[in-house]
Amino acid sequence: MAPNVDDYNREITYLRVSVIDRCNLRCIYCQPVKNLKLLHHADILTYEEILRVVEAATQMGISKVRVTGGEPLIRRNLLNFLFRLCRMPGLNEVSITTNGVLLKQKAKAIFDAGVRRLNVSLDTLNPLKYAKITGRPCFEDVWGGLEAAEAIGFSPIKLNVVAMRGVNDNEFRRFAELSVRKPYHVRFIEYMPVGLDSQWKPEKYISSDEIKCKLESFGALHKIPRSPCDGPAERYRFESARGEIGFISALSHHFCPSCNRLRLLSDGKLRPCLFSDEEVDIKTALRSGCSQEDIKALFHEAISRKPERHHAEMLQKGAELLHPMSAIGG
Ligand code: SAM
Repeated sequence: MAPNVDDYNREITYLRVSVIDRCNLRCIYCQPVKNLKLLHHADILTYEEILRVVEAATQMGISKVRVTGGEPLIRRNLLNFLFRLCRMPGLNEVSITTNGVLLKQKAKAIFDAGVRRLNVSLDTLNPLKYAKITGRPCFEDVWGGLEAAEAIGFSPIKLNVVAMRGVNDNEFRRFAELSVRKPYHVRFIEYMPVGLDSQWKPEKYISSDEIKCKLESFGALHKIPRSPCDGPAERYRFESARGEIGFISALSHHFCPSCNRLRLLSDGKLRPCLFSDEEVDIKTALRSGCSQEDIKALFHEAISRKPERHHAEMLQKGAELLHPMSAIGG
């Protein structure tokens, strides 16, 4: 069996790398209101360490990396790291997930470093509501960042919209219209009960089926056939739209059978499943003089510990994960 195939015959080709646990926003659904424990600087993997892990990962069959956070754009010297990552042999896709607050000023340099694919998190198109959700009045910055990214030539630009009843469910039409007007892939993400002190409540959750039903009352949605490199999103398009609509249904249609990913956290833990605290420590090995073969062995261990399916139902019933989503990186 290939080294990146797990016990359930899933080929692991995708690594999410959280480069920092800090964020410049305080989204209500992402970070705990109190008791937010942040890592000491010395406990965060250095870029050299991350690049060593990614290099070993590519030799194990990883071909796609997404850089995330916390907020990746607030980490110093990110551009040099991205430049090196984009030139790593074996990687054929590097993308970045950002809240977009600093995008306007950094988009050109990120593009020049070699990144082409961008995910921007934006849960509302209303500046006042944006400030309420995120704790910061930065809507215009994010919008300016999106327009700059579009003008520079990023493609695709995906908008991550966490759907929350009573928060942004009255804006689905505006997001639908946005996907027609702009070349953005608007992706509705089911609100997940992830994190320490998670604010998740069943009454705030909206399933993808319900969102899709609402969108279909605005116009016919045409399904886009899946391609082998597609992630978990189900993709659709409105008639004559420049962009797309996607649904990421972690809770209602769990996509575990096709899960192809591992997560590397900024504290040097490899996480086999978003919804479980099971982790493999790589940092201790890295800082004790391990070889690339040792890193590959740890990587293999993380792959072999991937559960057949997630158990988010435990979290829906009130169990908590050790880390907030802001540290895991989505
Ligand atoms: N700071 C970056 C950003 O805002 O995109 C990267 C980190 S953020 C944790 C990554 C993604 O996770 C964002 O799109 C965010 O909306 C999503 N996210 C955070 N908490 C979530 C939750 N409870 N349910 C669903 N998605 C969540």
